[in-house]
Amino acid sequence: MRACRKCHILTEETVCPICGSQTSEHWQGYVIIIDPRRSRIAQKMGIKMPGKYALKVR
Ligand SMILES: [Zn+2]
Repeated sequence: MRACRKCHILTEETVCPICGSQTSEHWQGYVIIIDPRRSRIAQKMGIKMPGKYALKVR
């Protein structure tokens, strides 16, 4: 799995399917966001789409 450097979503692709940024294989931890509008973590991270997101991406 790789994580987007910009929006932090987890993906198998080298380019993020959401924002088109490069993805990195160096990431740590992840959160599953089901309802971004009700999640404080999602709001803090600026997440608007449900999905799996890395907490830290290098
Ligand atoms: Zn992205």
